[in-house]
Amino acid sequence: MISRVKICAVVAAADARSMWTQVRRALGLTRTIELRLDWLSDDAEIARFLARLRASQRANLARATFIATCRRRLAGGKFTGTIAKQLVHLAEAIRAGCDWYDLEIETSSACPPEVLDVLLGEGRQMASAHFFEPSHKNLKRVAADLAGTRLDAIKIAAQCNSLVESIDVLRLAHGRKNVVAVPMGDVALPARVLALREGSALAYAPVQNATAPGQVTLDAMKHLYRADKLRRNTRVYGVIGDPIEHSLSPVLQNVGFQVRNMDAVFLPFLVRDLKDFLRAIGPLGIAGFSVTIPHKEAILRHLDDCDPMAAAIGAVNTVVVRGGGKLYGYNTDYVGVLRALERRIPLRGSRALIFGAGGAARAVAFALAESGAVVCICARRMKQAKALARVVGGEAVERPRLRREFFDAIVNATPVGMYPHSDRAPLRAEDLNCRLVFDLIYRPRSTQLLQIASRRDIETVSGVEMFVAQGTAQWEIWTGERAPESAMRRAVLRALHNEEKMAVR
Ligand code: NAP
Repeated sequence: MISRVKICAVVAAADARSMWTQVRRALGLTRTIELRLDWLSDDAEIARFLARLRASQRANLARATFIATCRRRLAGGKFTGTIAKQLVHLAEAIRAGCDWYDLEIETSSACPPEVLDVLLGEGRQMASAHFFEPSHKNLKRVAADLAGTRLDAIKIAAQCNSLVESIDVLRLAHGRKNVVAVPMGDVALPARVLALREGSALAYAPVQNATAPGQVTLDAMKHLYRADKLRRNTRVYGVIGDPIEHSLSPVLQNVGFQVRNMDAVFLPFLVRDLKDFLRAIGPLGIAGFSVTIPHKEAILRHLDDCDPMAAAIGAVNTVVVRGGGKLYGYNTDYVGVLRALERRIPLRGSRALIFGAGGAARAVAFALAESGAVVCICARRMKQAKALARVVGGEAVERPRLRREFFDAIVNATPVGMYPHSDRAPLRAEDLNCRLVFDLIYRPRSTQLLQIASRRDIETVSGVEMFVAQGTAQWEIWTGERAPESAMRRAVLRALHNEEKMAVR
C-alpha cells in the first residue's frame, strides 16, 4: 500500500517558502503529500526546500507519507535540468524523508536499473506514465507492461476528452493493488473524485496551484466531495452543463447529504456531448442529475418519461434514473419560483410582470399562471413576449407601458446585471411600479435592480431564494426525504459571500 490516507495533496510552488506553507496547509487535511520539486524555480530553491523538509523530519514535525516528484518537461513537468540532476534531486529528497519517489517512464527507460538502485534504492518507486494525447491506444498495453514489472506502484495519468474515456482510465485500477489512475482534463473531474471508489490507490488534489487540468482542490476533495469516504454503493448525483465550473449546486446538494448523513455525493459534470454523459450513467451508477444550460431542452429527447408540467414548459432541470436506467424528468425551477414568491404575496388574482422571455421566464410564467396570477410579459423582442404570453394565457406588454402601470410583482428573467456586469440593471426606477421585485439573478446576491427597488421601499427577493428552492426540491425528489433547507441555504450564501469577497480584492 502506498499510504493508508488516500487523498494525496499536491504541493507545488516556485519558492521553498511558499512550498513549505503549502505543506503545512496540506498536513491539516491529509497525511499523504506529493512534493513537486520540478515546480521550484531552480536547484537552489530545491535544495532550500529539502533542507527544510529534512530538519522537520529530524524534529518529528511533519509526519506524513511524502512522494517526491521532479518531473521533466517531456513528461508534462517543469524540470529543465538533465536526467542526472533529476536523479540527484530525488536521491536528496529520499534522504530528507521522502518514502516514495515518482519517476516517469521516459526517465526510467533511459537509466540502467542498477543506477536507479544505487541512487534511489532507499526509496520506493512509483513509475508514472502520462498520456497527453486524447487517443488512448497505448494505455492498456503500457498499464499491462508496467503491472508485469516488480515496481512498487504505478501511476497512469491520461488526458480524457470524454467521460467515457475517463471511465476507461479508472478501470485500469480495478482489482489491482498500488495502481494510481489519474484521468486528466476538465471533463474528467468527476472521475478524479470517484477514483478511490473505483480502486485507485491515491487521488491527487492540489493544495493551491492546479498542476494538471480538471483537478479538484484538496479542500473540495476532502470536504465537499469526501472522496475518501465514497464506496461502490455510494449514490452518485450531479449537475450537467457547459460551463459548469461556477455551479453552486455541488455545494447545495452535498451539504444536504452531509447534514442528513447520507451515503451520496453530488458532482459537477462538464457536458459538451449529452450522449457521452448518457453512456456514463450506468458505469458510474448515477442515480439522478440536475440539468442546466445548454441541455435543459435537449435532454427531453432522451427521457423515457416526463412530468406533465416539465413537458408543458418544454424544459427539464431534474432527472431521476430509475430501475433499468430509465430516465424520468421534472422541472423544479417551476417549484422554485413558487416557493420563493408564495410566502411573500398571495399569487391568486395578483398581476405579475415578467421581464424577459427565455427559458427561465417560461418556468416563471407557467408557475405564476398555474397559481392563478395574471401574467404579463415584457421582452426586448415583442414577438417572443407575445409567444410566451399566448401559451400561458397572459398578455404581452410594451416597455413604455411599465412606467404607467402597476404590478403586484415584477420578475427579472434576463441576465442583465449578472456578475461581472453587476453595475447594470434591466429596468429603471420609474419602471418599478410594484409591491415586490424578484430578480432571478443570484450573482451578485444584491443586484442593481434589487438595490433600486429597495431605495423605493419595494420588497425584494433575490435569485438565491429560487436557486435554493429549486435545488431543495431536486434533493427531495432524489432522496424522498425532507431537505435540510436552512443548512443548504446557509452553505450557498456562505459560498456567494466568499466569492463576492474575492471579487472585491
Ligand atoms: P435565456 O434563455 O438566455 O433568456 C434570457 C432572456 O433575457 C431572453 O428573453 C433574452 O432576450 C433576454 N435578454 C438578454 N439580454 C438582454 C438585454 N440586454 N436586454 C433585455 N433582455 C435581454 O436565459 P435563462 O435561462 O432564461 O436565464 C435568465 C436569467 O435567469 C439568468 O440570469 C439566469 O442566471 C437566471 N436563472 C436563475 C435561476 C435561479 O435559480 N435563480 C434559474 C434559472 C435561471 P433575447 O431572446 O432577445 O436574447
